[in-house]
Amino acid sequence: MDFYKILGVARDATPEEIKKAFREKAKRFHPDRNKSSQEFFKKVTLAYETLIDPEKRKKYDLQLNRNTSILDKALFKIYNTLGFTPVSKKGKDLYKKVFISLKEGFLGSVKTIFYTRKERCSYCEGTGITENSVIRECSLCHGEGLVKKRVIKIPCSRCKGKGFQILNPCTNCSGKGYIHLETKKTFKIPEGIKEGDYIRIKGGGDCGRNGGDYGDLYLIVKFQEEDFQLKGKDVYKTVYIPKKDLKKGDVISVPHFLEDTLKIEIPEDINSETTLKIRNRGYKDRKGNVGNFYIKIIPLD
Ligand SMILES: [Zn+2]
Ligand SMILES: [Zn+2]
Repeated sequence: MDFYKILGVARDATPEEIKKAFREKAKRFHPDRNKSSQEFFKKVTLAYETLIDPEKRKKYDLQLNRNTSILDKALFKIYNTLGFTPVSKKGKDLYKKVFISLKEGFLGSVKTIFYTRKERCSYCEGTGITENSVIRECSLCHGEGLVKKRVIKIPCSRCKGKGFQILNPCTNCSGKGYIHLETKKTFKIPEGIKEGDYIRIKGGGDCGRNGGDYGDLYLIVKFQEEDFQLKGKDVYKTVYIPKKDLKKGDVISVPHFLEDTLKIEIPEDINSETTLKIRNRGYKDRKGNVGNFYIKIIPLD
């Protein structure tokens, strides 16, 4: 229960303003006029009696301050100087590449990424303002956050578009409201993912301003495989084998992305470059349709 809110006055309201607010409320909600508002009228009376007595008000303010979040206190300081509360802003989305093997993409997997992002400073809740800070209207843009440059307005360089400057800013983040920290996220690679697909991690981006949410993290999938070529769902592998081992009935070992090797029987004598098709041993799509595996054999003399 916030007495200031009950009376509808600002935290720094003068005794006159408090009296005036009480009189208006008393008129509207007096039980003689309105039976159903009896409980509310009691609250209004208690609020008035507390705030009009300097000693009681001081004690109440102290208690209220302890119960108010760091963020609310900081925003209130800005409000007191500029006359408005800054809007909260979502943090920036981040984009990172993530390298996976064909096997990880085929089977689906769980991976972990380490990266650096702007983490909200917990000392000041991302505002740069603490108990000891003093807020001053920016001397360059006079609170607007923008300055004129020829015919357009650009963000003020002195206050970085905030409209105010902080004296004695938060020492943990130097008043920036964030610190660069290494972050760890674990995420799922869905089966059949394609190169260039995105994986979105909600809230994985930079922290927002003035209580704004974190941005998102977008992971762009890249295949790290150099030994295999992927074309759609089909996988290609090139092998160099001596001609003497490529007679009909010979068995050759060919690396495959899911298992160590495939044993392949040569269907007929191979003397020149030949491609063998192994059905349903390729990559797959998100629906689970599996492509073919192609072995390009280059005979060596
Ligand atoms: Zn400024
Ligand atoms: Zn801080």
